[in-house]
Amino acid sequence: MFKSLRGRTVIVTGSSKGIGRGIALRFGLAGCQVLVVSRKLFDGQAVVAEIVAAGGKAAAVAADVTRHADMEAMARTAVEVFGGIDILCANAGIFPAAKLDAMTEADFDLVVDTNLKGAFLSVSACLPAMRAKKQGRIILTSSITGPVTGLPGWAHYGASKAGLLGFMRTAAIELAPQGITINAVLPGNIATEGLADLGGDYIQKMTASIPMRRLGSVVDIANAALYFASDEAAYVTGQSLVVDGGQILPESLAALEP
Ligand code: NAP
Repeated sequence: MFKSLRGRTVIVTGSSKGIGRGIALRFGLAGCQVLVVSRKLFDGQAVVAEIVAAGGKAAAVAADVTRHADMEAMARTAVEVFGGIDILCANAGIFPAAKLDAMTEADFDLVVDTNLKGAFLSVSACLPAMRAKKQGRIILTSSITGPVTGLPGWAHYGASKAGLLGFMRTAAIELAPQGITINAVLPGNIATEGLADLGGDYIQKMTASIPMRRLGSVVDIANAALYFASDEAAYVTGQSLVVDGGQILPESLAALEP
């Protein structure tokens, strides 16, 4: 499946852990050259070692998606080390909880700067290299939270993730004539280090609200990203794919009764 990806260069932001790591490993297995990006180089290098051990090619760079200069340096590294950029997975994101009555301006700014502005800075930095090749694939990691659902404690997060879809739709129109597509994966609750930080009670309640009665795996999300990056998805742009085990479907708790 998706043999077209062999030899392509992919940048994955936020790939030292969680969903990003899963995407990086999956693209590595598909024969891509992978640039692993996170703020901590040591953690990124561990993922590089996993990809190389599985027979793939990868390198790591330390970069913060909220910093314009870091994103420029990230794109430069991909071009210098791998000769160009074919695919960007703008995945880095944070999800600290804060109810509205306690949410500070700093809380809001940090989440929006990382999740929304960070994606804009990542995309902007990679566009010149994609335009040079007259082709490119951009895959955003959004969420069901915001675009489809609401969850107390995550108003800033929901705004950032819904904002990504607004950004994507106009970007898709602007980039289509240049051979560049941009699409979004909307994960439900996926078993990652970040999700584990929310605690056992959160995970138990979420699992009970998912028709498939399990959290998603990072591979579930990586497979969706792989599709959007493939030649098979060449005519698909500006679209979003929910990958959530059916979590957004129940109309009431009655729908989940055995
Ligand atoms: P995670 O386990 O906490 O991993 C987050 C990754 O992002 C780490 O590699 C982290 O590395 C990196 N990162 C965080 N801030 C960064 C920054 N400013 N610059 C560069 N890298 C940064 O999170 P996850 O659960 O895999 O989530 C990944 C993405 O999926 C996020 O966008 C999240 O909103 C989205 N998502 C997750 C779920 C879920 O259930 N897990 C559901 C829907 C959407 P460093 O700390 O070293 O930088």
